[in-house]
Amino acid sequence: MKPVLALVGRPNVGKSTLFNRITKSRDAIVADFAGLTRDRHYGNAKQGRIEFIVIDTGGFEPTAESGIYMEMAKQTRQAVAEADVVVFVVDARGGLSAQDHDIAKYLRKLGKPTVLAANKAEGMTEGIQFSEFYELGLGEIHPVSAAHGQGVRSLVEEAFATLDLPEPEEEAEAEDTGIVKLAVAGRPNVGKSTLINTWLGEERLVAFDLPGTTRDAISVPFEREGQKFELIDTAGLRRKGKVFEAIEKFSVVKTLQAIESANVVLLLLDATQGVTDQDAHIAGYILESGRAVVLAVNKWDAVDDYQRQQVQRQIETRLAFLKFAPLHFISAIKRQGLGPVWTAIAQAYRSAMAKMSTPVLTRLLLEAVQFQQPKRSGMFRPKLRYAHQGGMNPPVIVIHGNSLEHVTDAYKRFLEGRFRKEFNLVGTPLRIEMKTSR
Ligand code: GDP
Ligand code: GDP
Repeated sequence: MKPVLALVGRPNVGKSTLFNRITKSRDAIVADFAGLTRDRHYGNAKQGRIEFIVIDTGGFEPTAESGIYMEMAKQTRQAVAEADVVVFVVDARGGLSAQDHDIAKYLRKLGKPTVLAANKAEGMTEGIQFSEFYELGLGEIHPVSAAHGQGVRSLVEEAFATLDLPEPEEEAEAEDTGIVKLAVAGRPNVGKSTLINTWLGEERLVAFDLPGTTRDAISVPFEREGQKFELIDTAGLRRKGKVFEAIEKFSVVKTLQAIESANVVLLLLDATQGVTDQDAHIAGYILESGRAVVLAVNKWDAVDDYQRQQVQRQIETRLAFLKFAPLHFISAIKRQGLGPVWTAIAQAYRSAMAKMSTPVLTRLLLEAVQFQQPKRSGMFRPKLRYAHQGGMNPPVIVIHGNSLEHVTDAYKRFLEGRFRKEFNLVGTPLRIEMKTSR
């Protein structure tokens, strides 16, 4: 599971600027997907070999007793409770406020690993200028400038140094074990536990033992029609004896962690509710994670034709960025439409793990170029020379050649379409990277 870092502090100290700075490298991947709604409060980040989740908690007023501030305080507390380490951000220019003291008191009592960041410190000299922040009783002060990117790397390093993290594995290459790690994701009440219990009650399903998994871990290995699956710890659910129960508190962090540990995510929607913001956010995380995805609209039994059309339209517009995902309409309660979902999950897994050899990729590339040349850009015409596979789950195709920075997005989509068709890739994103040699 990825560790979680939470940014806490009063409004305007620069948390969201810092959040953007820390998560920046990932943004590029998803920047050009139309219709992608991102929840700006949660993001993935990577520094060195540590991959982690960052939460921006918004403004925190620990003493707020009513209204929106109390709601925010509640959410901040949940985020802090789920975090492995807290970065408490104060304003180096504005100095200390009563609110900072309140937050510090809360954090001290909590006893979570906490590092103190004095933001907006560009151009300030270390030493006496920051001494007042020692009053907070949270130890060393880390001057940073989120806006200018100064001190941010060492801040993150420092934050993780407080944790006893296991040495991260060598750039964990996705591995085709033949066992589909499956996460069922979705907001509360879409029917996750109903579906899982219906599935686990199926006669066709045979449990098997997976070495290394403990009994209490929420991970259920089973086999269905010759295909092995491992249902991994699914956000918002708890196993109680033989059945799954929905737990009250929905946790974005657990959802993110479940998505990250899966090969395939089944994203469940509720036909009676349509596509909500929260659905779109979860879908955005899945896209960003690169996992394979199957969409299922549940409670199909409970809607009429008009509502059905509406849901379909909403999926086309609001989840346009998941066009590659197969879509199924099901009823977990009435056990309708479930068979094809299994097939789609197994196919998405095979697509995510597809092996594509360099000669075949290169032949396809050259055929595609012959069919349609990339556009000339000023003096340059991109020259695409050969391609090889750079990863699995998601499959990555690396194209080598010259002036590749001038290849348009439209042309990349054209290539993607050709590769998808040839390798029959369904339900997985496909990443195409360009490597120009000079
Ligand atoms: P948040 O409310 O804590 O999320 O704060 P924001 O990230 O929205 O930043 C509040 C204001 O502080 C904005 O006007 C930012 O441009 C500014 N700001 C953020 N980081 C820095 C910094 O490192 N130096 C300076 N001088 N200003 C910053
Ligand atoms: P979870 O929070 O995602 O695990 O959702 P639950 O499985 O607890 O289901 C939430 C509610 O939706 C419960 O009242 C279920 O009975 C109901 N529900 C689940 N699946 C279906 C379905 O296929 N059709 C209908 N009409 N209701 C369903």
